[in-house]
Amino acid sequence: MKIAIIDADMIGRSKHRFPNLVCMKLSGFYKDKGYDVLLKTDYENISEYDQVFISKVFTDTLIDESILKFPNVKHGGTGFFYDKAASLPNDIEHHMPDYHLYDEWVKSQLDNGSKKNDFKYYMDYSIGFMTRGCFRKCEFCVNKNYNKVSRHSPLEEFYDPTRKKICLLDDNVFGYKNWKDIFEELQSTGKPFQFKQGMDERILTDEKCEVLFKSKYDGDYIFAFDNIADSEIIEKKLKMIRQYTEKAIKFYVLCGFDRDNNWDNKFWQQDIFDMMERIKILQQYHCVPYIMRFNRYLESPYQGIYKTVAAWCNQPSFFKKKSLREFGIESEKYSKTRNKYITDFEKKYPEFGEYMDMKW
Ligand code: SF4
Repeated sequence: MKIAIIDADMIGRSKHRFPNLVCMKLSGFYKDKGYDVLLKTDYENISEYDQVFISKVFTDTLIDESILKFPNVKHGGTGFFYDKAASLPNDIEHHMPDYHLYDEWVKSQLDNGSKKNDFKYYMDYSIGFMTRGCFRKCEFCVNKNYNKVSRHSPLEEFYDPTRKKICLLDDNVFGYKNWKDIFEELQSTGKPFQFKQGMDERILTDEKCEVLFKSKYDGDYIFAFDNIADSEIIEKKLKMIRQYTEKAIKFYVLCGFDRDNNWDNKFWQQDIFDMMERIKILQQYHCVPYIMRFNRYLESPYQGIYKTVAAWCNQPSFFKKKSLREFGIESEKYSKTRNKYITDFEKKYPEFGEYMDMKW
């Protein structure tokens, strides 16, 4: 039986560089059954295969929908169904991922001159979920239908000792009551590990900080500061974090999402100020914001400001050296509009000037 697996995000997003865990689990499961499985990197000749699986994580990845009507095609994932995406059957969900599914594609990218580091998640990491779910039910989040954090997999289910590092996709590991067991299991491997989806800073305790910041952690510690209403608790925990580490810490900063569902000019204006105020707080604790734009930001009359601020923050080499004003002026060399967006906004709302000049 010939099975083709399609990672739609890999095809539809030229800069996408993260393997699709569902694709790797499907591949592992069907290869174990003795089937002929390959990673298909286009949508041609679909009917030549007995079964084609298409998985998509991002809702804005484009795909020719007519392909989904082929009788031999099954599709799934949050990119198609968002929070209504069906789970994999249990025996596939808990199967060891096939970490070699992408080998040929990665080799072809490297042969074409791509940088090895861009493919590190395909080559160096064991990837999986030890817990799943979250208790917070944020309206914008794909996890909003969960009620709590539950244990999902033992580490050995997806851990390949030949790989250098471990990447966890857990949604809110510190929200799990036995979080310490998770860290003990990870530490017992001696491998560096990371929680890629960000951790919940608001529920840190001294004990959690002690364990986390003593761990052999891989890359940046990442948390989230999604709501200006959380400023007090975020700052309180930042003070706690700073008793344990001096490292720069990254925070996802969601913007462009109206919790009151008005989406009017008043919201869009306030959202710019709320974003900047969160950046200011994070700067004070030597943290680096990463601007995450909710897709409706494109409806904002100030969408250019989101773009300029994201270009500034999301490239830490700029953010750590330049104020927003300096970044805007420098941007004029290659963009006619970036600086204009922020300077026009400052003319309209002079109180924005405070945020133009703050520095890391
Ligand atoms: S805390 Fe994070 S994972 Fe949990 S619902 Fe909110 S955004 Fe999603």
